[in-house]
This record gives sequence, C-alpha cells and structure tokens, in this order.
Amino acid sequence: MVTMTCIVCPLGCTLSAEKDENGNVTVTGNSCPRGAKYAENELTFPVRTLTSTVKTDKGTMLPVKTSAPIPKDKVREAANALSGVVAKCPVSIGDVIVKDILGTGSDIIATRDMA
Ligand code: SF4
Repeated sequence: MVTMTCIVCPLGCTLSAEKDENGNVTVTGNSCPRGAKYAENELTFPVRTLTSTVKTDKGTMLPVKTSAPIPKDKVREAANALSGVVAKCPVSIGDVIVKDILGTGSDIIATRDMA
C-alpha cells in the first residue's frame, strides 16, 4: 500500500494505492476519477513536467519547461543537462531550446519571450 497526495487539483486528496500480483491497481481516497488515474500512473509510470531556466547569449536567464511530462527518474538528469545550454536570443515563447531531451520525446521550450 502506497499513500500519496494527489497533485492534479488544489484539493490535494490523500490517496492510497495498491498493486496486486496481476498488476491491477486499486485506489481509495480519491474524490474523482482523475485522482485514480494519477495514483495508477504513479505506481506504474510516474512522470513530471520539468520547469527550469537556461542561460542566454545575452547573459540573462530564460525560463523553460518540458513540452510534455517526462519520466520522473529522468527529471534530475534532464535538469543537469540544461546547465550547459545557452539559448540564442531573440527567443519567442514556445520556441524549442532543446529537442527531444534525453530521448524522452519531450522538448525543452521557452516559457516567455526574450529579446
Ligand atoms: S482526487 Fe480528484 S478532487 Fe482529489 S485532488 Fe485529485 S483531482 Fe482533485
């Protein structure tokens, strides 16, 4: 039995989830189906959206994020990989700064314009 807080909405329900020998996940404590799906994903394939910053060639910091959630166990490695990245200005919101970060299929994109 794993206990976790649902982070899908601000209500923050406390969820209990258990996986049986057949891989079926039972979830309790959720107030809606999204919580059950969240707990199931946490037990089988946890993912997170990475938000961070990268340097620009103007010496400023550009806020970025993954275009889609990536496996939770790759978040730290992806964050470390961004430390050597320098974005070339000007940058528009949504521009791809790093394509297919760590082969996850998710891009690192700018979350604001920067001249
Ligand atoms: S279970 Fe549903 S209501 Fe509860 S925190 Fe998750 S999304 Fe929100």
